[in-house]
Amino acid sequence: MANKLSIVFFLLFVVNPFPFVEPKASEASATPFGKTLQKLEGVHKGQRVKGVGELRGFLQHFGYLRKGNSLNDSFDENVESALRHYQEFHHIPVSGEVDEETIKTMSLPRCGMPDIINDSNPNALSGAPENYSFFPGSPRWTKWGLSYAHSSSASFNIALNVVRQAKSRAFQTWAQATNSRFRFTENARPPADIVYGFHRGAHGDGLPFDGPGGVLAHAFAPENGRCHYDSDERWTTNGGGTDMETVAVHEIGHLLGLHHSNEPNAVMFPTIQGIRRFLAQDDINGIRALYGI
Ligand SMILES: [Zn+2]
Ligand SMILES: [Zn+2]
Repeated sequence: MANKLSIVFFLLFVVNPFPFVEPKASEASATPFGKTLQKLEGVHKGQRVKGVGELRGFLQHFGYLRKGNSLNDSFDENVESALRHYQEFHHIPVSGEVDEETIKTMSLPRCGMPDIINDSNPNALSGAPENYSFFPGSPRWTKWGLSYAHSSSASFNIALNVVRQAKSRAFQTWAQATNSRFRFTENARPPADIVYGFHRGAHGDGLPFDGPGGVLAHAFAPENGRCHYDSDERWTTNGGGTDMETVAVHEIGHLLGLHHSNEPNAVMFPTIQGIRRFLAQDDINGIRALYGI
């Protein structure tokens, strides 16, 4: 009995010591967009309030509002409908208003890739994926042996060796999910199939980083291979910041062809809190479906 209990204890607390850490309210509103959201609390359809344009920008960037919409400050039916889709995807009450729960969720650290892309998902239902999804056209690698290398344009506050170890473990996590068909090898420097690194603010791909909090990283579909981390985050592998391996596992999912999942336990869920280094069944199902394993 004592043995069984200690095994349960081990599984609960040692294998996955920080399943999810709720951010403090002060952290949640630390980004400029978080501050704008605070001022929009209670705003709903029919109102015109400064800051709604920024909300439109957010909803458009993450795929909830059609691109090309004017980023004006009027909260119209398009914004309401986009907000409803956002709330549905993120499993919070679907109010169509900027309520407390929405502000909290929109302020969470997250991946910079959109949540919704048209035709990206075999399980698509009213534009919102049911679970895992792929990039449009389901691009994938045409070989199993992939090289990767580091190249940064900005300074970063974590030892490169620690980053390399975290990346290596993250690649192994995905290799295992494909029954070791994928083989990842590290090159000392580019060229490589996958090039990852740290970058600050605008860094030449039209997807500028936003300083501490907010967007943490982004990565491109196969066979692009680029993976960028926001150098302004406090990267760590032992708590007290943004967990390098957790974000690496998520971004490698993109590099291999998975897009965001609305399964909250999946590594490919777009918000990234605490430590989540292990794939959920949804992630494994996704990568196996994409590669026919
Ligand atoms: Zn992502
Ligand atoms: Zn980038």
